[in-house]
Amino acid sequence: MGEPEKLVLVIEDELAIVRFLRASFQERRFKVLEAVNGKTALDLAATKKPDIILLDLGLPDMDGLEVLKRLRQWTSAPVIILSARGQEGDKILALDKGADDYLTKPFGVAELMARVRVALRHAERSGKEEEPVFEHDGLKVDLAARRVWVRKKEMHLSPHQYDLLAVLVRNAGRVVSQKQLIKEVWKGSEETTAESVRIFVHQLRHKIEPDPVRPKHLKTEPGVGYRLESGD
Ligand code: CA
Repeated sequence: MGEPEKLVLVIEDELAIVRFLRASFQERRFKVLEAVNGKTALDLAATKKPDIILLDLGLPDMDGLEVLKRLRQWTSAPVIILSARGQEGDKILALDKGADDYLTKPFGVAELMARVRVALRHAERSGKEEEPVFEHDGLKVDLAARRVWVRKKEMHLSPHQYDLLAVLVRNAGRVVSQKQLIKEVWKGSEETTAESVRIFVHQLRHKIEPDPVRPKHLKTEPGVGYRLESGD
């Protein structure tokens, strides 16, 4: 009955967090693999082919970023980074090196599962036909027609405003780093800075948010980037 069980690989050396993750996943019918260091993690990932990977950046034997780099040489399975406060720089580096999302410790089970659902759905969808219409909480975006509606009223966006929104829609529910936005929206143009991204986000919020000062769709992830709410 239902979907087949998913296999999650938890790479974490803090035992309290391992226990929390194991209980949370088992309760939701995931099979759980555990590794307390990078070497075991890479062996398990290669032999068991997990559907999703949770990766702590601070491991005893190896930098989590190095583990990520080696994983990305052969697998596109979603990787969610587990980071401690004060690892902001590493978190951004990890996203730019192919991690799918991150959780900052301590995190709750609802937040964990929302990130996992989004990452798994995104992985299942990639390679398949793109969903042409995004709709959530009064915001509707038709990616094929490049049209946007806010509470049934069509909004006209500038090309960059639209491209920015489209990248966020394609990653709905996931964090998108500033660097990723600059790469995808401005094709990595060197004149585009974090400040220009902020300006376009500000403009976009005025078009799509009922209250741009307290955005409900386009959320800022401080120091990292932006996330479009998807209802997960
Ligand atoms: Ca650790």
